[in-house]
Amino acid sequence: MAYKITDACISCGACEAECPVQAISEGDGKYVIDADKCIDCGSCADTCPVSAPEQA
Ligand code: SF4
Ligand code: SF4
Repeated sequence: MAYKITDACISCGACEAECPVQAISEGDGKYVIDADKCIDCGSCADTCPVSAPEQA
């Protein structure tokens, strides 16, 4: 399991610093989560102002 960032992302960057395993990086038009690194902690979803990270 891993979280996935939807198109609702406004590329604010807030979630990147909150991820304990550095799974989040800036992608093309939105931030992206490396599913192989994500440990499903939910910190990104808690931090995001637009609720873009969702449990896949
Ligand atoms: Fe990182 Fe946790 Fe979000 Fe996965 S759920 S991308 S581990 S902050
Ligand atoms: Fe995108 Fe939300 Fe992360 Fe900001 S906190 S970069 S809006 S997913």
